[in-house]
Amino acid sequence: MALIVQKFGGTSVGSIEKIQAVAKRVIEKHLEGNRMIVVLSAMAGETDRLIGMAHAIQRVPDLREQDMLVSSGEQVSVALFAMAVKAAGHKAVSLLGDQVGIHTDQKHTCARITSIDAERINAYLDQGNIVTVAGFQGVTDYGDITTLGRGGSDTTAVALAAALQADACEIFTDVEGVFTTDPGVYNKARKIDYISYDEMLELASLGAKVLDIRAVSMAKRFKVPVHVRSTFTNTTGTWVVDEEKIMESLLVSGITYSKKEARITIKKVPDQPGIAAKIFLPISDAGIMVDMIIQNTHDGGLTDMTFTVLRSDYDRAMEILGKVAQDIRAEEVTGDQEIVKVSIVGVGMRNHSGIASTMFQIMSKEGINIMMISTSEIKVSVVIAEKYTELAVRALHDAFALDKDNLPLEVDVD
Ligand code: ADP
Ligand code: ASP
Ligand code: MG
Repeated sequence: MALIVQKFGGTSVGSIEKIQAVAKRVIEKHLEGNRMIVVLSAMAGETDRLIGMAHAIQRVPDLREQDMLVSSGEQVSVALFAMAVKAAGHKAVSLLGDQVGIHTDQKHTCARITSIDAERINAYLDQGNIVTVAGFQGVTDYGDITTLGRGGSDTTAVALAAALQADACEIFTDVEGVFTTDPGVYNKARKIDYISYDEMLELASLGAKVLDIRAVSMAKRFKVPVHVRSTFTNTTGTWVVDEEKIMESLLVSGITYSKKEARITIKKVPDQPGIAAKIFLPISDAGIMVDMIIQNTHDGGLTDMTFTVLRSDYDRAMEILGKVAQDIRAEEVTGDQEIVKVSIVGVGMRNHSGIASTMFQIMSKEGINIMMISTSEIKVSVVIAEKYTELAVRALHDAFALDKDNLPLEVDVD
């Protein structure tokens, strides 16, 4: 008897009819003789609606109360789902994070799972129940409800699969798997059959929201193979697995974009030792994460410092940096929220040169100005104006021929 963890995202449980359809699908798998754990997200749009209400009361909502509020979305879906299973004549039980024993640290709205108690779930499974667990939530040692960050139901599913040593972990969503780029942006995007944990980590961190990044790192750590697939079809989706299990490594396997960041420039900073610390210390003390950093050299002992922060931290960062700029006698602080980070990812880059320059050539051919660049072993990212997102993604997808099964050796930039 196999133990299967299946997670269904918000659009998959977005209405009563969809919840009933998912229940039918899960029951079929259960009737084949499998022990089933089902993890559900809140119904589509619900988490955004709840966060919107919080912001209507507090400009910066109290994080503990925000967790208390938003975790209710998942409570609704698991209860409705368990009812749908029971209405179809089968056994089910719905459980919240604290009922399961999904323990987390105390970092409200971005908590990390520290441990999971398998006992209660196992007891319900032994009684023949389809065990339905609210995704995205856990509980601190003090009994406070926490949430795991946006998209966190994926993490709940992988964590349960790891803790209970499930035979399969399936992430059901509104697309047929992980694509070479967001299929919502380019209809030539191709479904990827197998992708390594490392590539998926990069894709997820650079904007491919189809799988949450913490879910991928947990899957990698505990060696849980993850199958990302469609709720609405029976087609095989994408397997996220160890790199050794993949026969060929593609030069570029995916293109992502992220509109979550904003650019900040501090102009004419005195170019002296200790200046970077004076700028970034107050930023990190405020819990603001900085991503790309560029420092230019200037004549006359002055330099420009440019970096990106999350758009949601932009106002706070500008406020802090206004003061810092005065202290260090920089000329001014400017910023731009209408930027996008477009990235190409592929493990094949490890052994090939010239991928980055090809990317820059393509941007130049399309007349797109590159504001910032960053590279790692298996990715190249550029920051460009947000209005060029689709143009850049499509041009790169075409040039690297990602719609084809096999990549050509020569990349077409003409
Ligand atoms: P769920 O609600 O099921 O968790 P999400 O909205 O979080 O679903 O993730 C699925 C969405 O991710 C897709 O509808 C798609 O638009 C988007 N997406 C972005 N990049 C990719 C990609 N590379 N492959 C597949 N989907 C992607
Ligand atoms: N409902 C949460 C969100 O919208 C968690 C999830 O869907 O994975 O982010
Ligand atoms: Mg998601």
